[in-house]
Amino acid sequence: MLKPRDNLDGLLQGGREPFYKGYYLMTSRCNLDCGYCVLENAPHQLRQELDFEDKKALIAHLYEHLRFRHLTLSGGEALLIGKHPPNDFIELLRYLRGFRSEVADENLGITVYSNGTLLSDVVADEFVGIVDMVGLTIDSANNTLLSAIGRNKGRYQEYFQRAVNACGLLGKRGVSVKLHSVIGQMNYKQIAYEVLEILDAVLAAGGQITKWKFYQYMSYDEPLRDGAFSIETDQFKQGCDRISSALKGSDIQLHFKDNKEMNDSLFNILPYGNAQYLRTSDTWSSSQRTGNLQNYASMSDLFAAHEIDSVAFHRFHAI
Ligand code: SF4
Repeated sequence: MLKPRDNLDGLLQGGREPFYKGYYLMTSRCNLDCGYCVLENAPHQLRQELDFEDKKALIAHLYEHLRFRHLTLSGGEALLIGKHPPNDFIELLRYLRGFRSEVADENLGITVYSNGTLLSDVVADEFVGIVDMVGLTIDSANNTLLSAIGRNKGRYQEYFQRAVNACGLLGKRGVSVKLHSVIGQMNYKQIAYEVLEILDAVLAAGGQITKWKFYQYMSYDEPLRDGAFSIETDQFKQGCDRISSALKGSDIQLHFKDNKEMNDSLFNILPYGNAQYLRTSDTWSSSQRTGNLQNYASMSDLFAAHEIDSVAFHRFHAI
């Protein structure tokens, strides 16, 4: 097994590149069916997902050669990786412990994005000391609206309460939560009236919210989906102003991410081991792909091989 810190001295001596942070979408499997989500989850795509050992090898390569020092593990639903969820996810967390360090430059920070429906006491116990923060999405406190979005599916009902409970499970173990809310046509008018209700419910459950990110629904070049969810940037900004006023006085760090920032910063490491990025002229459907990231010896190599704007990349991903 590649040891995380074997070559760190060499990296630092050559240290012309900064360290990086990035999103690793480990799987396209999910137990929910949100209308605004685009997962590459056709059977042939799922078959191309890296297996468990390759996932570990990719993470080691990102750390060792591409200088990643923070990964956000996402999906799909991250806890669904492997054949017997959430066991493989737990095993992955234990593997990640080898990349943790008291020395800042050697530590791999870990954030997990999850829908929270599979988060149990057993899984939450495994987060302690490995996961710095968990991102959970709450788009509304209203379960009827959440059903319309697709967050209540099959046996996974009452999403709002489930997400609040997940925040509580984490809070009791000292793991902080970053809330996410996707702002689209369905919720942009009422979310400002609900943020305090959401916050109160999470705090009452024992959750610790340190950040809250509000995303403008991003177009996936699909007219039906866009028709149901898209909002103009002006509408998004008006909604954000109302949210800011409603949360004024709280010490939660707010971030409003509009389509421009999403497009400029997009660099998603995909379940296949490559990465998706956008050139200035691209929309979602013309987005570009790198090769397998394990085939690049450094991020400079990656930038040289593709039309990735390295200045923009550094702006959003250097740490
Ligand atoms: S929970 Fe996340 S990954 Fe799953 S369908 Fe919804 S948005 Fe997509």
